[in-house]
Amino acid sequence: MYRIRIDSHHCQGHARCLSFLPETVDFDDEGYAQVPEAKSRHAEMTDALRQAVANCPERAFQVVEE
Ligand code: SF4
Repeated sequence: MYRIRIDSHHCQGHARCLSFLPETVDFDDEGYAQVPEAKSRHAEMTDALRQAVANCPERAFQVVEE
């Protein structure tokens, strides 16, 4: 199982992650990325997850294996 974590201290709201995971990523009222708990777990490390990690300029978008 893979879980998305967004480091809220480093997220700058570029929204690059949103372009790879439009069904998963949401934004809070201040414009920073967040992922609802119900959408944070994924059975596989998909290309979209890899791209979101690779393209986050702040390294705030992370996926950890559980
Ligand atoms: S790409 Fe990274 S810094 Fe930008 S909104 Fe997504 S998690 Fe935040």
